[in-house]
Amino acid sequence: MAIEQRTREGLFPTTDVLHQLMDILGHDFTTDLSSTLASLQPRSSLRLKINAEICTDSHDSDDAEAIQVPPVHMGSINLNTTEVQDYLQLHFNGNGIPTPARSSVDREDLAVSSPTRSSLSTADMSPGQPRALQSTVQASETHSSKKRKTAGALRVTETNLSVPPTGSPTPTSGSSTARQLQTKPREFPQRKKKNEDGVHHLQPSSVERFVAGLWNQVFSSVELSPSSLAFRAINSLCLRVTKMSRCSRALETIIQAHWVDCFEARVKNIGVEKPFMSSTETKMSALREACAILKWSEKELRNRLSIWRGYKEIKDVGGWACLVFAGSGIYRFCKYRGGFGKNLTTRLGRLRPSLEVAADTIHPEWRKLLAIIGQDTQRLYSGHPHDWVVCDGMPPVALKTTYTQWYPDFSFTHLEDSVLDQLAWGRDDPRQVSGTNTAFCNDCGYFQSNNVASNECRCFPELYGACKAPIPVQVFRTPLGKNNGLIARCEFPRGSAIGEFTGLITKGMDGTDVMQSGEDERRYQIYQGKMGNYTRFINHSCAPNSQFQKFCWLGSERIILVSRGVEAGEEVTVDYSHEYWDGLDKECLCGEPCCRYLRRIRPG
Ligand SMILES: [Zn+2]
Ligand SMILES: [Zn+2]
Repeated sequence: MAIEQRTREGLFPTTDVLHQLMDILGHDFTTDLSSTLASLQPRSSLRLKINAEICTDSHDSDDAEAIQVPPVHMGSINLNTTEVQDYLQLHFNGNGIPTPARSSVDREDLAVSSPTRSSLSTADMSPGQPRALQSTVQASETHSSKKRKTAGALRVTETNLSVPPTGSPTPTSGSSTARQLQTKPREFPQRKKKNEDGVHHLQPSSVERFVAGLWNQVFSSVELSPSSLAFRAINSLCLRVTKMSRCSRALETIIQAHWVDCFEARVKNIGVEKPFMSSTETKMSALREACAILKWSEKELRNRLSIWRGYKEIKDVGGWACLVFAGSGIYRFCKYRGGFGKNLTTRLGRLRPSLEVAADTIHPEWRKLLAIIGQDTQRLYSGHPHDWVVCDGMPPVALKTTYTQWYPDFSFTHLEDSVLDQLAWGRDDPRQVSGTNTAFCNDCGYFQSNNVASNECRCFPELYGACKAPIPVQVFRTPLGKNNGLIARCEFPRGSAIGEFTGLITKGMDGTDVMQSGEDERRYQIYQGKMGNYTRFINHSCAPNSQFQKFCWLGSERIILVSRGVEAGEEVTVDYSHEYWDGLDKECLCGEPCCRYLRRIRPG
């Protein structure tokens, strides 16, 4: 039985079980329960045993009464004694007059079977009740005298209800006569059933419904915005869909590359099971097996398989990151296989660790895609992308470890924007150029703004006035003993910005490597010893491929690094200038034929 099952699992309290039983049986046995309980020991544990007599309806067949069937034990229900007592207390109001259980038991047939009910319907009527009210009740009594009243939260109390003769009931003084809010949970107003008391109610007209709808909408969270925002909405939608499809594409290549692994394992397996088969036969057998499920022809599957093999080869040498971040070009690349071979294998193999550092630090969630094929999803590299020094074909090392031999307590905070040293400058940023029109670019004359929609200056969109993406550079271990350097992962066309030189804006530092700028009173230094960005790791070259340049953004002077033409995979270099090299007891390691600081300290 459903009820017993639920009770055993403890899902429903005893009271609910009793209600359900009364509902199913159409019989309110509250009174019987109460009298039985009174005859028991107060602390006895209760068990409701249900025995049923199975018979056919007497009018169905004449010989039904002739068949004697013994009662069938249907099961039993453990009852919580305390709950039963609470229940009875609630229902008998402490004075022996039962109150209705709840609306689910409130049925016509139930009222007929329970004689206590008819007395109940008049129990609430006090002799002093106003005439008008009484007559309506009596009218409904005559309509159905057996019907029981539904409990409501707001009820007129029995005693002393005095109403002025005009008939409009007003609350009188004294708490006993006031309307009382009953908060018993069982008697909380229930939703009315349709035609509950047999009276036909008029349905609201369509105009009324329409007006109600108006109010509902006005008082709802509906968002109605001007059409200019529609463009914004479609952009967001487009972004969402593109991201989703990009993700699905990545999953597709992951699964297809993995499929090739599984296919090869299956072929091997068949070879073991059926050693008499040739290698072609075992392959064909596995192919046919797959085709039956994929519902493709063998030819179709074979065509796809050749592309999927490309995915697998890329994955095998370059790791899963190569597949996931390959983009849509991977399909054509694997279809036509231009450049596949030893060159690709070596290239991807060497790139693999660097690619994983970038993928893990910029897209920490990407490995979770691998869960679909049961691969390890734990990321290998955490923190900032430039917390790691990469090296072709070698495991990356933590940035800190590359400096500890000179600075044991080395630490570096990555900054996107410079920080003003308030001890040196207070709140007065020396980079703020006085007297400049903050809104117009000194170089192009167009309007500058951080707001993408209103900005017109396109001087360095990588850094200002457009949406920013991570700059494709990595800190790497140089091969020529120059310690760390900066490597460009993508091309920086001549004239484009590689980054802003950020650090601590200070003054008066001596004997340390700082960037000097500003004039007269407002000469300032940018110090990158403890904080800054990747521009700190750029090495000097006597034939550099980038240069520092001043640029004014919104009236504030910035030092930015501009490309003179940097190829993807090239080290980014800059000329540190004479001021740096003068008085420095060091040889230049740039290796350029035009090197100016190579033979300076030769003995002789
Ligand atoms: Zn400009
Ligand atoms: Zn040099």
